[in-house]
Amino acid sequence: MILAVVWLTKATTGRVGRWSRGSGAVGGGPYAGPVPAPKVAKKVAEPEPPKPDTSLVRRARKMDRILAETYPDAAAELDFTNPFECLVVTVVSAQTTDRRVNAASPALFAAYPTPEAMAAAPREHLEQLLGPLGFFRAKTDSVLKLSQALVENHDGEVPRTLEELVKLPGVGRKTANVVLGNAFGLPGITVDTHFGRLARRFGWTEETDPVKVELAVAALFPKRDWTMLSHHLIWHGRRRCHAKKPACGACPLARLCPSYGTGPTDPEVAEKLVTTQGPA
Ligand code: SF4
Repeated sequence: MILAVVWLTKATTGRVGRWSRGSGAVGGGPYAGPVPAPKVAKKVAEPEPPKPDTSLVRRARKMDRILAETYPDAAAELDFTNPFECLVVTVVSAQTTDRRVNAASPALFAAYPTPEAMAAAPREHLEQLLGPLGFFRAKTDSVLKLSQALVENHDGEVPRTLEELVKLPGVGRKTANVVLGNAFGLPGITVDTHFGRLARRFGWTEETDPVKVELAVAALFPKRDWTMLSHHLIWHGRRRCHAKKPACGACPLARLCPSYGTGPTDPEVAEKLVTTQGPA
């Protein structure tokens, strides 16, 4: 009987029907094609700094060495004596000059020297102290919230990591890097308007987004150079490589800068554009 069935199948289909090993069929039903692979969640890639070519690294580091010789006193131009003051002056320096902040900050810290004192400060008095800096209502709001967050979440201490700093109210990545580099001596690249402009003029990056500029420049320099590099570029941007009329004819980077000629190249004309005074 069995032989008869096998014979009959072969006779009608031309082959002996049976489940092949690994066909994927289960439970004796008909073969329905391969079983799809289980879905695996894709890992979200962390942004990685682009790999720069060696000649760019060499040129960038040479430019920074020249800037270090040109501006041996380069440092933060805001005055502060501890991490809390550094954080506050950096936050209130938005949309104003360092010189104005330096004029206003002694009275501010004499009245409210700690996060606890500033968190409890009467708003009207803070507004009066911050008045000369413009946007004083918003700035008062910022320093009050900032001080309250330091008291409530950090026992009145300024945190020492980028991740914690950027969670504080009113503190962005730029401010966090200023604090890391200048108050704690930890590596930090400060991409302000000068830094971004110069990094692009130098041909170090074409990025315009500050975080991308930071990553691109970070890939060119060892971490130990990051803080001073920031000062060098900011000083050069304030004194020679101005946004509108850079002093190309009086620039020590002229031979290495792809943007040479953006400003006057005549040495006498260019020299008049160089500013030598302290904080802007
Ligand atoms: S050569 Fe001109 S554009 Fe280049 S860094 Fe000097 S001042 Fe700036």
